[in-house]
Amino acid sequence: MHAGMCRGPFNIENPYVARMNSIKQKERYENRVAIDDAEIERRVEAGYYFIENPVLPRPTKYFDTDLETSIKRMREGERVYQKLPQTDCGCCGAPTCMAFVEDLVRGEASLNDCIFFSGRERGL
Ligand code: SF4
Repeated sequence: MHAGMCRGPFNIENPYVARMNSIKQKERYENRVAIDDAEIERRVEAGYYFIENPVLPRPTKYFDTDLETSIKRMREGERVYQKLPQTDCGCCGAPTCMAFVEDLVRGEASLNDCIFFSGRERGL
């Protein structure tokens, strides 16, 4: 995998971690792996690299079933988001700070899950 491929909305790993892993793997395996183009072509024709089952979207999670409560939570999330470092580092387990905030307002995460967060310093 090329380091330039570690971007986009469908990342399954934090882009910074993926980029570093990619660089390390390149250093480790670059001269060890002999690539047999004919074998790869044979595998492509045999369907080896294709997904057998469809990839289905996960159902959307709402902030709340009540619209007024949902809007309140969304606004609270926006307020908290402004206080976060917005680095999208992924250390909290969420792929982005916005995803973390969404988990937070649903009660599925704690402010303490953000390694950069300090409630007193940030005035929350
Ligand atoms: S740990 Fe904090 S800064 Fe990093 S992605 Fe999570 S919320 Fe954002």
